[in-house]
Parts: sequence; C-alpha cells; structure tokens
Amino acid sequence: MAKLTKKDAFATRAVHAGVHPDPVHGAVNPAIQLSTTFVQPAPGKPLTFDYSRAGNPTREALEEAIAELEGGATGHAFSSGLSALDALLRTLDAGDHIVAAEDAYGGSIRLLNRVLARQGIKTTFVDTQDPANTQAAMTKKTKVVLLETPTNPLLRVSDIKANAEVAHDGKAMLLVDNTFMSPALQNPLNLGADAVFHSATKYIGGHSDVLAGVVACADKKLGEQVKFLQLAVGAVCPPFDSFLLLRGLKTLVLRMERHGENAAFIAGELAKHKAVGKVFYPGLAKHPNAKVHAKQARSGGGMLSFELHDTKAALACVKKTRLFQLGESLGAVESLVQIPSLMTHASVPAEMRRKTGLADGLIRLSVGVEDKKDLWADLKQAIEA
Ligand SMILES: *Cc1c(COP(=O)(O)O)cnc(C)c1O
Repeated sequence: MAKLTKKDAFATRAVHAGVHPDPVHGAVNPAIQLSTTFVQPAPGKPLTFDYSRAGNPTREALEEAIAELEGGATGHAFSSGLSALDALLRTLDAGDHIVAAEDAYGGSIRLLNRVLARQGIKTTFVDTQDPANTQAAMTKKTKVVLLETPTNPLLRVSDIKANAEVAHDGKAMLLVDNTFMSPALQNPLNLGADAVFHSATKYIGGHSDVLAGVVACADKKLGEQVKFLQLAVGAVCPPFDSFLLLRGLKTLVLRMERHGENAAFIAGELAKHKAVGKVFYPGLAKHPNAKVHAKQARSGGGMLSFELHDTKAALACVKKTRLFQLGESLGAVESLVQIPSLMTHASVPAEMRRKTGLADGLIRLSVGVEDKKDLWADLKQAIEA
C-alpha cells in the first residue's frame, strides 16, 4: 500500500491521494459504491456511512484526495462546479455583501445576480487585478471576496495573496475559483485563501465526461458548514462520477504539462501572426500580470484567447478549424474553440462585456493534448481562410 509523506511532490501525491487499497481484496482502486443506504448494527450506530447524501465511500475517497492536493483541512465533492460555489455562498445570510471579480465565469455572475441577489445578498463587481479596487468595494457587510485567476475568457490575473490580505483586513473570507489552473498548477489555500473550488468538469475530470465540482477549505470550521450543506441541500457528486474524477487526478500532472506546453507554443505563434490582435495568455512575458502569475502558479496553463477583427472574422475562423471543435467547456484532452460573446458569455450583459474589454471578435481556445504542430497548422489555416 502506498503511503504518502508530507515531503512527496505533487506528482506523487496526485497518483496516490485518497486511494486506500481495500482490506479484503487489495484492489488498488476504490470500489464504486452505489448503495444509497448502509445496514446499521444498532439503531443510529452505522459502521461508517448511513445514507449516501450524507456520505459515500467513493465520494469520500475523492474528497480526501482534493483536500490533500489543495492543502486543505477538508474536501467536498458536488454535482457541478456551480453547486460547489453555491454551497460556499450558502454560508452567508441575507444582508451580507460579496465583492467579486467582474470578469468571473458567466455562470458564477448569473448565480450572484439572479439567485443570491433575490435572497438579499448583493454583489459588487470590481477589477480584482488591483487589490485596491477590492478594498474600495468592501463594506462592513462584506463577508466574501470571490476571486477567479486567471479569469475566463480574458485570462486576467489577480494576486491571490494581496486579495486575501484585503479580505481578511475587512473580516471577509477569500474564495478562489481555481478551475483554469487545476490543483496541479496553483494552490490558493497556500496563499491565504479560505476556500478554493473547481469546476471538476474541466481539468480534474479532463475527458469531457463528468459534470462535477470540488471544494477544499483551509479550516475545519468552514469545512463543517460545507459538509452540513451537502447533507442539507444535497447537490453531491455521485459515486461513479467520483470514481472518474479520482481516475482523472492520476494523470492530472501529465495532462497539465502537455496542455501548458501546447498553449504556450500556440500563444507564441498567435502573437506573431499579422491577422491576430491581442493575445491573452498568462504564460506570455508581455501579459500585463505575468510576474504575479509566475509567483503564484507553476505554468501558464492550457487556456488562451485572442482577438480577430470582428464577429464575422471570428465566425469564419471557427467554421474552418478541423481539430479545434466548436464547443463550450474546457480543460479536456481534446481541443475546443468558441466565441465567448456568442456562447459562454452571451448571458453577460453586453454593457458589462464592453466594460471588461471582452471584444465581439474574441476567440477562446481550450488547448488539448494533441500534437502542438498539428494544432497550430489547423488554427493557422482557419485564421487565414
Ligand atoms: C465551468 C466553470 C464553472 C462552472 O462549473 P460547472 O461544472 O459547469 O457547474 C465555474 N467556473 C469556471 C471558471 C468554469 O470554467
């Protein structure tokens, strides 16, 4: 049985975290435990689990792995990335206030504006790249600062440590959406965040076949509240999906290395191309916050975006790609392309898109793990077509 020590590197821990060979057969992988109920030797005295919403062995293996890999006291797995964020935000009360990154994931903005707002929890959106903006938006009622870095789709980078200090000065907690980096490339809890969450649908799953979310909490007290919300609300990650995510974690380091290598290559080629306007990739030296990113993350990751002249040019390009398939989502082995203004960010009001600099001709790439030269040849001919 593999036993991890604190000195083991991330790549080692990613393979073994959460996995305990079963004592009967010695199986190296956790079983997919589909039972929803568990026989109790005496009333109210279950062996370990009683009912699968409250706890399930396969989900618990995943939750242990996420806590281990994000450096958290607790880990929690949900049925989607948004249900993971929702659980964290349900720790708030009516009248509380949130300060959030203005170019956060469109679905996160929708959750804040159209669900939380109706429950009396208001959000102020700011450009968190400058922590002074975060500070200026904080009020006595601010309980949460919500950060995403790098952001989607403009790959803006915010300083996690500096924003954590601002949040804590105002007695608020810092939540970080770490989806774009995955636990392999960035660990916000080590930089002062109180909780980190992921759409595990993306890099953690890595194969476009699981919808899930995960949370890791820095301290047990917040973790207990989140665990209570799993029981009380019930948006938990199913056992089969938990198994797939554990499987995904084992190759996460390998995949992120290739995603990063491919994306850095393509970003470099795009930056040299005459028909391409701005290129947004945190691994490029000329990215405005390249230094902050390099300080808090281990690579530029696999996501990038670039501007073509207008919507028409962008539409013509995405029609012509052969390997980059047109689709929402990101973070899987296959490369995807999309136009945020028409797809993922169509639900963000046009005025807000303009304010954050999201151009109509912006194209976002989720660079997969295919051969980088094949990918660039495909993209190049599409841009030039
Ligand atoms: C996809 C995504 C989410 C939402 O996750 P779901 O699993 O789709 O619910 C949140 N944040 C980011 C950055 C995402 O890309």
